[in-house]
Amino acid sequence: MHSQLSKLGLFDARVPRYTSYPTAPHFSGTVDPLSARSWITAIPAGSKVSLYIHIPFCRRLCWFCACRTQGTTKLDPVEAYVGTLKKELKLIATMLPTGVELEHLHWGGGTPTLLPAGSITDLAAAIFDDIPLAKDAQFSVEIDPNEIDDARLDALAVAGMNRASIGVQDFDPEIQQAIGREQSFGITKTAVDGLRARGIQSLNMDILFGLPHQTNERITDSVEKVVSLSPDRVALFGYAHVPWMAKRQSLIPTEALPTPPERLELYETARDIFVADGYVEIGIDHFARPDDGLAIAQKNRVMHRNFQGYTEDSSTVLIGVGASAISRYPQGYAQNAPSTSAYQKAVRGGDLSTSRGHEFTDEDLLRGRLIEKLMCDFAIFYGDIADELGLPVENLHAITAPLMDWFPEMLTNTNEALTILPHARPLTRMIARKLDTYAVNEGGHSPAV
Ligand code: SF4
Repeated sequence: MHSQLSKLGLFDARVPRYTSYPTAPHFSGTVDPLSARSWITAIPAGSKVSLYIHIPFCRRLCWFCACRTQGTTKLDPVEAYVGTLKKELKLIATMLPTGVELEHLHWGGGTPTLLPAGSITDLAAAIFDDIPLAKDAQFSVEIDPNEIDDARLDALAVAGMNRASIGVQDFDPEIQQAIGREQSFGITKTAVDGLRARGIQSLNMDILFGLPHQTNERITDSVEKVVSLSPDRVALFGYAHVPWMAKRQSLIPTEALPTPPERLELYETARDIFVADGYVEIGIDHFARPDDGLAIAQKNRVMHRNFQGYTEDSSTVLIGVGASAISRYPQGYAQNAPSTSAYQKAVRGGDLSTSRGHEFTDEDLLRGRLIEKLMCDFAIFYGDIADELGLPVENLHAITAPLMDWFPEMLTNTNEALTILPHARPLTRMIARKLDTYAVNEGGHSPAV
């Protein structure tokens, strides 16, 4: 089967991960603070929205990481930045109609847990003062086990955090050294125990395949250790080596990286362990306990995909706060100024920092939804999409028909649905790519496997 996938180009292609459509490289300066302001004011009164808070600081910069974040050993710039976040939240609150509540709140980065306990309490209070948390809302935080203690865990728990995510990458010491990130199993377990003791309802862990020196034995050992910590969800991402975009990755020994066919084997080795342990496969790279909300959402075909990956979040509005944060409104995407200095200058000057984005066309909304369905369900149920978007089913058939020529024996296409066959699931991003009408610069994307 791998040779069939190889013939279709799986081991050579670089394709987007489709956490948005169009993808971020296609954003332009046509979206500005005025556009963002008009989209915020158009949110219907009483809506439930999602909020993402970006903390672009880390104590040290891991070599494998392509996140936009800056290293700092001092807290002054971080605390000044929190002050700007509070200003931006206030500004947004003045534009929001009445009765808007938060259904999902996520703190990511960077390292949100770099904030001292007092700043965590202060920021949470500022958020809820401006936009209250709805009953049963989900509040998740990315936790760095190297950068957390009881005081910060207590502050997060008191603020209402009920979900957490921990990055693991791989537990093997040689791999950790090669990617510039040391994080022992012991320190990770202490963080997990601390979270569980504070009643965290859902714990996610991220691990990576395709790392330097990674072998099937090593990934087996790491995955078994992850499973022993009983996360409710796991994201198994492929490491994307793009040193021409993320300069610190040039410290990673290229010759120690697995080949594309080896990457696929690493993925399959890890996947088999999760499945044998009772996890359900979610989309292209996640796993979840069968009773976890994500598994239930996938089963009911209501799972979504956004900048954080797979989600149960069905809000049509995701407001991103902080430098480089991206918001999604029914009208389009709006991204804040990427550098912390430009972001802070704009917000302290009393305006939103929106520097680019994309206003949706009807065609974007249609193609984006088809791609999202492929990424989430490995299928497009024509009747569902036709009802949702008010389109004749024939229009959808016309768009998907060429896929059968591109990927023979990989898909079935009936009047009801286009389905990616189980053996062809590694091709999902490549199949989605064929529905994407924007030019793709391959150098900027991660390998298809
Ligand atoms: S992996 Fe986490 S801690 Fe390391 S540089 Fe990236 S965001 Fe910072």
